[in-house]
Amino acid sequence: MALQASTQDFRFDEVTYTKEATTLRLFAPKDAKAVKVRLYQQGQGGKAMKTVKMALGKDGIWTAKVKGDQMGRFYTFDVGRGECPGVFAKAVGVNGQRGAIIDMSATNPKGWEKDKRPEVKSPADLVVYEMHHRDFSIARPDAQYPGKFMALTETWALKHLKNLGVNAVHILPSYDYGSVDETRLGDNKYNWGYDPVNYNVPEGSYSTDPFTPDVRIREFKQMVQALHKAGIRVILDVVYNHTYDVDHSNFQRTYPDYYYRKNADGTWSNGSGCGNETASDQPMMRQFMIESVKYWINEYHIDGLRFDLMGIHDIETMNQIRKAVNAIDPTIFIYGEGWSAGGCGLPGEKLGMKANIPQMPGIAAFSDEIRDALRGPFDNDTKPGILGGTPNMEESLKFGIVGCISHPQVDMTKVNYSKQPWAVEPTQMMSYVSCHDDMCLVDRLKASVPGITQEELIRLDLLAQTAVFTSQGVPFILSGEELLRDKKGVHNSYESPDSINHLDWQNLQRYPQVFEYYKNLIQLRQRYPHFRLGSADKVRKSVKFLNAPKGVVAYRIEATRGHIVDHVVVVLNFTRKEQRIAIPEGKYFVLAASGVIDLDGLDIIKTNQAVVAPQTAMILQD
Ligand code: CA
Repeated sequence: MALQASTQDFRFDEVTYTKEATTLRLFAPKDAKAVKVRLYQQGQGGKAMKTVKMALGKDGIWTAKVKGDQMGRFYTFDVGRGECPGVFAKAVGVNGQRGAIIDMSATNPKGWEKDKRPEVKSPADLVVYEMHHRDFSIARPDAQYPGKFMALTETWALKHLKNLGVNAVHILPSYDYGSVDETRLGDNKYNWGYDPVNYNVPEGSYSTDPFTPDVRIREFKQMVQALHKAGIRVILDVVYNHTYDVDHSNFQRTYPDYYYRKNADGTWSNGSGCGNETASDQPMMRQFMIESVKYWINEYHIDGLRFDLMGIHDIETMNQIRKAVNAIDPTIFIYGEGWSAGGCGLPGEKLGMKANIPQMPGIAAFSDEIRDALRGPFDNDTKPGILGGTPNMEESLKFGIVGCISHPQVDMTKVNYSKQPWAVEPTQMMSYVSCHDDMCLVDRLKASVPGITQEELIRLDLLAQTAVFTSQGVPFILSGEELLRDKKGVHNSYESPDSINHLDWQNLQRYPQVFEYYKNLIQLRQRYPHFRLGSADKVRKSVKFLNAPKGVVAYRIEATRGHIVDHVVVVLNFTRKEQRIAIPEGKYFVLAASGVIDLDGLDIIKTNQAVVAPQTAMILQD
């Protein structure tokens, strides 16, 4: 399809306001008939105050100039496919049906110009906390704004995150999505939000007033500002790979059949499993993604991006996004799901799949190798991983420990999903055992370890995260794991009620040892550079696996702190027996043993063996 617009400087749809007149521009097909703009008093309902025909300019862009002061009014475009706010609305009315003409500069909270991105030297130093606005705060008794962006400005919330020690929150979809009716918030309907409507506007149901367009924008910024002040980065979950639906989407309503991939028979390709997949390989879809990412970073001060089903986007687009983001700030972290949810309309070798990570420098992917080595396979909730005693998972776990790079001591023929290393640098690997998808860790352990007791559950939970946090990848936890959260066994809780998804804050009192362990584990990682080597060469040189029996993985890491070269030994004992592992003779501080971590050392021992209690980790330092 020939496109008239230059992809260099194009802004898709644009609203230029002055007191005298407002000019609206739209990217729509040249041969579209009767392209119109309508102006409204309200964000929904009511009759149009004015309908203005748009004219096609020489640049291939449709334009309309509406005289008079239009501030506070709403607008829609219409190319004959139904009204919509365009693809790049920056402010919308309730449910995102109409664009809004507002003064963006008035949405900046006090001190916004002084807002600064918290410093993070290397992605290896990040500790990512994946959270949903509603899960986190809806059941918190002292929350002033339960379920809202503003909850993350509250003292209790910031205190919890700081106390835990995470330095980045990855917020589940927070752009305007379609599955929650913003006019009926009293229904308390829940959704993860993987159903994008307006990509460049915050979701209304997380604001205190979805009807007033500037409120969600201001509150989102207040949230970012508060997190930044607390030293916490904000990572946005971006879902450019599909839309809520095709026929009613802003893409289809402004430029039909351009933004999506089709099958040979003319039906929509469905790599997302949600009925459609977008076409990042089309120049204007690629440009849309680049512009959208830049907009969130510049307007909302976003510090990182998590690409949902990155395996649907093409490699070239991901690299161009990395380049555009580098020009703003190279420390902005980018990672994604290196897979799709179905066959895509482009061949696999062109896509942002995990196996193609070597072609995408500066972009990371989730490691299903370490995740499933620990908890068991994604397609069978009742099958355990090494946590439940499944044999031959050691090499897969070791592959995860080194950050999914090549390492002389990892035998790739025995690794679960990958037969060759896919990360060039360890910071291209997300280390995790659970996320919002699938069962959370507690539910998975209950489902896959028959007869598990509460004590065993806690032992295995702590052991799993010890593997995650002593990996050379970028550690990532699902919000609430530090509270021993469960989702009552629900595997896919995307629209489950709060009673399934909410964090139960009473668990802080019920299981104080769990929070304490997570907190200390994070501190341990941040104190010891051994776990954050950050480069593949350093990892290959400094991480040595020790001889260990089946069900045990042990490694010794060398690192320099100041002028001192020292070693940390980690032994992960997944067996139900005490294990004695030979280690180099030395005088060791015991940093972790029997489910307790003490940064000052639980003990000092002179020994050549680590004696490790069943289903626990031992960490020693000499
Ligand atoms: Ca919405």
